[in-house]
Amino acid sequence: MAQNGQNGQNGKSFALHSLGCKVNQEEGRALAALFLSRGWQERSLDETADVYVINACAVTQTAESKARALLRRLRRRHPQALVALCGCYGQIAVDKDNIPEEADLVAGVEERAVLPELIEKKMAEGGREIPLTMAQPLQPGRPFTVIAATSEQTRARAYLKIEDGCEEFCNYCIVPYARGPVRSLPQEQALAQAAELLAQGHREIVVSGVHIGAYGRDLQDGSHLPTLIRRLAALPGCGRLRLGSIEPQQFTAELLETFATEMKICRHLHIPLQSGCDATLRAMGRKYDTADYAALVEKLRQICPEICITTDIMVGYPGETAAEFEQSRDFCRQMGFGRMHVFPYSQRPGTPAATAPGQIPGEEKKKRAAAMGDTARQLARAYGEKFTGRKLQLLAEQKQCVNGTDYISGHSDNYLPLLLPAAACPHWRPGQFIQVEGEIWQDGCLLTRR
Ligand code: SF4
Repeated sequence: MAQNGQNGQNGKSFALHSLGCKVNQEEGRALAALFLSRGWQERSLDETADVYVINACAVTQTAESKARALLRRLRRRHPQALVALCGCYGQIAVDKDNIPEEADLVAGVEERAVLPELIEKKMAEGGREIPLTMAQPLQPGRPFTVIAATSEQTRARAYLKIEDGCEEFCNYCIVPYARGPVRSLPQEQALAQAAELLAQGHREIVVSGVHIGAYGRDLQDGSHLPTLIRRLAALPGCGRLRLGSIEPQQFTAELLETFATEMKICRHLHIPLQSGCDATLRAMGRKYDTADYAALVEKLRQICPEICITTDIMVGYPGETAAEFEQSRDFCRQMGFGRMHVFPYSQRPGTPAATAPGQIPGEEKKKRAAAMGDTARQLARAYGEKFTGRKLQLLAEQKQCVNGTDYISGHSDNYLPLLLPAAACPHWRPGQFIQVEGEIWQDGCLLTRR
């Protein structure tokens, strides 16, 4: 047993670290809540613990390398401790029988709901010679797995995971292999979890998942995203509803109508584009072209002229020529995104693109990512500057010190990162809505005043 400080009621301690997307981060928090509910004591990765858990991502080679480096470090520093790997990387590692030697236990995405028990069993049995690997094949028809009914979310914005899995199989993406088919949280459970989060004092709910546009597809009870959104918005205390990533082809007429009429939905939508070049979109196996995407953005701007559209954009996809890259960048300029997440293409073994001809050299991918990053910053500034002198509602999240001045940081409903001098609202608290006015765009944020 870890010697420093007292351990949990069960005399055991754990340290957990999550890598990757917000969904995986949230699942990591739920997993920590599960350990705590079983009497474990939580430690940081730098402290001594009985068990170290890496809840890891597999979406890029970089993500996997980060997890492997962490496993090696933990193994080296804590030879007596049990080291576990779980999440998307765990699922892929077991499926491909590519088990990192540093791990004593490797679990997939679904096994996280029973991970503390698996670890307790492994510890009771002793013997770390043979790593315990467990990642059930993610077959269609599996129900949605809730890791922990409630997890204390410390941030002002609370994440409500309503869906897992994806069946789109874009040619570059490992997610359908790591997360399996679409699985939806039944509406009543989603509403109960949301009510719990609102009762904890959260005012903004972020409706999240791997592919929320497909919500309800597996439930055979007519559930779908528009209905759930309306019911969530009707919950007492619900201040804002922020929708997670929705694929362009998932915007049905009903979803557009819901966005137009449900005022609690934030004026912000994250709609992955991936490329602004039709030839590259076809090669990626995406289910729309730039004309479809532009038409959708046009419709959304007719509904909400000040909407903030954010996106994911990939550069250096196999076969992407310099001219096609510039075409993609031009299209992004035309779309006037409020924020862009730029990803250099990452070869994922087992995906069709990994063996496609025309792989782009790393240096060239880096160059394109830097150029697209410049465009992203210019577009974010152009969008942010539209709100100088305008009234906005800041949802206070945390204190931030910038150049020696304390600020309250948070976001507007249209996803602008806002800063308000703390002196302007000395008794503020996280989760509080504060009326502000945009002053000046600076270093990727909009400075505001009351
Ligand atoms: S929609 Fe495509 S890119 Fe997104 S998770 Fe599914 S397969 Fe991956």
